[in-house]
Amino acid sequence: MLRLHDTAAGEVRPFEPREAGKVSMYVCGPTVYGPPHLGHGRFSLVFDVLRRYLEWSGIEVTYVSNITDIDDKIIERAESEGRDWREITQRCEDVWYRAMDAIGVKRPTFDPHATAYVDQMVELIARLVESGAAYETSDGVYFRPQRVADYGLLARQSIESLQSGARVEVHDEKETPIDFALWKKAKPGEPSWPSPWGDGRPGWHTECVVMSLDLLGEGFDLHGGGQDLCFPHHENERAQAVADGKVFARHWMHNGFVEVAGEKMSKSLGNFTNLLDLIERVDPRAYRVLCLQAHYRSPIDVNETTTAAAAALLARLDAVTRRTEGLGAGTDPASDVMDRFRARMDDDLNTGAAMAIVAETVTAINRALDIDDVASAEPLVAAFRSMLAAVGLEVHGAAPARSVDSAAAALCRQRDDARAAKEWARADSIRNELVALGYVVEDTPGGTKIRK
Ligand SMILES: [Zn+2]
Repeated sequence: MLRLHDTAAGEVRPFEPREAGKVSMYVCGPTVYGPPHLGHGRFSLVFDVLRRYLEWSGIEVTYVSNITDIDDKIIERAESEGRDWREITQRCEDVWYRAMDAIGVKRPTFDPHATAYVDQMVELIARLVESGAAYETSDGVYFRPQRVADYGLLARQSIESLQSGARVEVHDEKETPIDFALWKKAKPGEPSWPSPWGDGRPGWHTECVVMSLDLLGEGFDLHGGGQDLCFPHHENERAQAVADGKVFARHWMHNGFVEVAGEKMSKSLGNFTNLLDLIERVDPRAYRVLCLQAHYRSPIDVNETTTAAAAALLARLDAVTRRTEGLGAGTDPASDVMDRFRARMDDDLNTGAAMAIVAETVTAINRALDIDDVASAEPLVAAFRSMLAAVGLEVHGAAPARSVDSAAAALCRQRDDARAAKEWARADSIRNELVALGYVVEDTPGGTKIRK
């Protein structure tokens, strides 16, 4: 049985879905205002591995991951660039999915957009105001965390210590520093939707609680995200559900940070290197290998040394794939190998130990083939393929054909047009799209040139 660390319980415990054979999971997705950073890549890979492992085990997974397409940062970028905010969110979402495709992350079953759920968010906020869990001020509507008895469960801190640690802002109409915005009243010219408290937009913490409960129902199985979302975002989602009398997620799972030269990567610290840079510079599959080699709750360092080590393992896996082409089909995977692999994966997704079994199996396959012992190699080859399928790692036999397709060629022409018109931001964003498609982009006197 799969056991996972549960942030709310503070320990590893059995993961028991509400319905046998089915798992419903919600993972907080991106705010679409810029290119995806390395932290985005990691959480997407961690939860993709969990999803694929469950599916490989015969479980039907409903995977929901939202797109935050209205937010202060989107409005700021639209204002500073003099563009429509919807143009920014659409383009950033396209780049997001191309980057996810490049690193092999499966598309969600549902990807709800915040702007499509504003009416339901207004309904929830109205119920919270009605019950006294929320109150209106001159600039919005705020939630009262003290109305939730176990507030601080995910932060693993008492409400008193959260209160004393919170920053008090000048001119604040909030009753206490940890009260958070459910609705933000619009300033002139900002995108807005109607509400009983005037035109405005929902706060970020409200969209996920509404969309997860709408698409997955009460008591859905797992809510996940990066560790930086644990508090306040997830705490505040949960608080609204509790105050609204709803049973929320049964299990909370958070992955560790990405460190770049030892520094914590989180949204508030900005991006040093983004995911598009990584896809451009190394085999995109190497990022999955790098994530698999670490425990999902540990921090990982993403730099040239660690990605090169991951790429070296990948080369070894590709090489054995070429060597074993035509072997192992119709053979049962070696059961002792599979038993050990499953035991590691079921132990809070110990992918590092599971990958060590993959590496041992590669050694054993090569040793058997060195002495032409095909009969011993075949069940190992079948196990090797099955383990890689379980973690979603694609290996290449013969080198894949790498040609410039017509869609990419069209993007090059559009980029040349944008550059000719001195639309630099547009030219840059097309460049990012090409990078997300796996191309190296070069500016030449003859225009944009790409190669894989
Ligand atoms: Zn969320």
